[in-house]
Amino acid sequence: MAEPTVFEKIIAREIPAEIVLENDRIIAFTDIHPQAPMHVLVVPKTARYRDVVELAQGDPELLAEMVQAARAIARERGDGGDFRLVFNTGELAGQTVFHAHAHVLAGSLGEGSLA
Ligand code: AMP
Repeated sequence: MAEPTVFEKIIAREIPAEIVLENDRIIAFTDIHPQAPMHVLVVPKTARYRDVVELAQGDPELLAEMVQAARAIARERGDGGDFRLVFNTGELAGQTVFHAHAHVLAGSLGEGSLA
């Protein structure tokens, strides 16, 4: 078994996080190093998928649920409901946690700013 990722530890409440949404399949919490005025991570509770490509292949419905969760969070906490959704995929693209997740960014986003 691989070492649990930081996201699994948050799901298991082994480390704290500011949780903004949770249901049976998804958890969302604020990013510890925000790259925008609103920066929330939307994370499937299953650790089965390393990245969004595996997730899209394995459970496209769960990916769609994450997009809906992102929209709900942006409507509640963001900038008029508009948001940017980023999936870093692979180390060279900046992925550091290999448990699929979406960055939801909103508020004063410059044209070039990506998480
Ligand atoms: P990525 O680089 O796309 O894999 O995204 C991983 C994200 O997880 C980064 O933006 C980190 O700032 C964030 N992160 C890492 N540890 C924590 C934590 N304990 N609580 C909240 N966010 C975290």
